[in-house]
Amino acid sequence: MPKRIDILGKRYGHLSVLELTEKVKGVRARQWVVACDACDGRAQFTGATLRAGMVTSCGCRPRLNLRGFNLVKRMKASEQRLCKSLPNSLAANPETRFFLEPSGKVVRRDAAEAAITAGELVSCGDGLFAETAQTWTAAP
Ligand SMILES: [Zn+2]
Repeated sequence: MPKRIDILGKRYGHLSVLELTEKVKGVRARQWVVACDACDGRAQFTGATLRAGMVTSCGCRPRLNLRGFNLVKRMKASEQRLCKSLPNSLAANPETRFFLEPSGKVVRRDAAEAAITAGELVSCGDGLFAETAQTWTAAP
């Protein structure tokens, strides 16, 4: 039997871990009760699900992984935009890249794509980099 990892009191996005549920006969994994600060609701998840960053709300917010959540949070706090530069065969590193403007900090692709897919970012559509890039701001 693997030792349980204690995550009591930890935060995962909107979720704060409150307590461990009682063992239920026939159910393998005990779950953690979490409070969601986005809606004041409660939910239960396994520790593995929480620690993997797979959920950041009770289900009231668009599904977003923890990296995506942290990206959106950082963008709101620093009022930065997310930019995507499309592959450029002339560049030394011809890959799609995401980065923040104006800091220029590179963003992990999985975080950027998760935030966009969840609808947490709004496309600027300003045509500034029409052919080569797209930009997004954090939705209010
Ligand atoms: Zn919620």
